[in-house]
Amino acid sequence: MQQRYLALPDSLYQVIKPRKVDDPSLLLFNQELASELDLPQQLLGKDAAEYFSGNRLVAPELSLALGYSGHQFGYYNPQLGDGRAHMLGQINGFDWQLKGSGLTKYSRSGDGRCALGPAVREYIMSEAMHILGVPTMRTLAVTTTGETVYRQQPEAGAVVSRIGRSHLRIGSFQYASALGVIKEMADFAIDQLCPEMVNAANPYLLLYLTVQQNQINTLVHWYRVGFIHGVMNTDNIALSGETFDFGPCAMLGEYKLEQVYSSIDHQGRYAFGNQKLIMQWNLARFAETLIPLMPGSEQEAIALLTQEVDSFSDAFLQAYGHMCANKLGFNQNRHPLISEFYELLRTHAWDYTQIFNQLYHRLNGGNPQLPDELIAWSEQWLRAVNHKQALMLMSTTNPKAIPRNHEVERLIEAVGNEQQDIQQQIDNYLNYLKGNVYTGTSWGNPDAKFDQQYQTFCGT
Ligand code: AMP
Ligand code: MG
Repeated sequence: MQQRYLALPDSLYQVIKPRKVDDPSLLLFNQELASELDLPQQLLGKDAAEYFSGNRLVAPELSLALGYSGHQFGYYNPQLGDGRAHMLGQINGFDWQLKGSGLTKYSRSGDGRCALGPAVREYIMSEAMHILGVPTMRTLAVTTTGETVYRQQPEAGAVVSRIGRSHLRIGSFQYASALGVIKEMADFAIDQLCPEMVNAANPYLLLYLTVQQNQINTLVHWYRVGFIHGVMNTDNIALSGETFDFGPCAMLGEYKLEQVYSSIDHQGRYAFGNQKLIMQWNLARFAETLIPLMPGSEQEAIALLTQEVDSFSDAFLQAYGHMCANKLGFNQNRHPLISEFYELLRTHAWDYTQIFNQLYHRLNGGNPQLPDELIAWSEQWLRAVNHKQALMLMSTTNPKAIPRNHEVERLIEAVGNEQQDIQQQIDNYLNYLKGNVYTGTSWGNPDAKFDQQYQTFCGT
């Protein structure tokens, strides 16, 4: 194992080991990811729970907590950081981080712990995103600690093993900027994220553009499947574009751009339809940190970066428009039927996943019950699309099944029930999302009533 973050200036991290836990037990283990990572044998044996809880370390001297800042709901907080996470190092080039693994100098008033429910939610949602083809960090394991953590009520404690290409965030750059080590941070990030650009005339501008492109790509995937992140603070936006921090996330049922599930997002800052504006706002915060690295005067640097941040709108719209067209089987975003459809969708708030599956089914010769308001439109649509191409585009763009909010909550509730084999249940569920097997299960149906009163929580 290596630890590349040790190459950063030491003001940006704390070397610290996870805290030992009382009674570790492996609750969930991601076999598929373990094989992909080709994990060292010592992690897979009878001591697995020791390693995945942080009680035993492969390379104790490499464990550290990273510092970062961040704009939380628009307000700058200079002192965030891994307050309950330890970056153990890299396995086959991927970061292995424990979360819920104890106090660090970044813990502020927190307890350094993670409760079991949110740990299981992270496992399910990150794997579901992966299955849906969304760039995401993944979860390798969840161990229980045998300890109690105190939230609204006492809960079982857990440690999550998170795997990602890079844990650098926009907030990492804000922190480095405040500490006067932005060049070191940017050179490090280029090496991690776009090493081929290191010899370019202005590699820092290319770093910006790489990060912007990563965000656009991920955001279009979020819109494609109906994902609401819920807490797009700058410290929760990975430069790699990998989705992470699944605390208050949820899936869109009925199509409502203003949909919010997070209990603390009173203004709708992170509403489904607002995510694109917030991402651009976040990228502007990232660009600000790069000003000293641009050639020319400060004024010229600001002008140059402003132009790039402004270019987000067109670049996003182009990728987004393409995706919206593909969902209806068109390969270009020109046909007037496309905007007519989305207008109808906004007006009638149909279930975002189901409506495309019904159209697919109709195009494929089936006779699904389409909403009355869509019948005239669908007749024109059937004449306008190239059937073979449309079936291909629709089946690769639209998820047949998503992790419905009520289904995910039910699985999390089942964790408290000693009678149930939770690994088996979650494996079954993820296999269902993979294979889209409807028969014999009650999975897949929307539950609009549930969604209407559904609330998610940042806490953790
Ligand atoms: P989040 O809302 O998960 O993105 O976390 C925001 C910040 O709070 C990060 O710096 C976390 O490390 C920190 N944090 C969240 N929960 C805890 C906790 N239980 N103990 C210590 N720090 C925490
Ligand atoms: Mg976070």
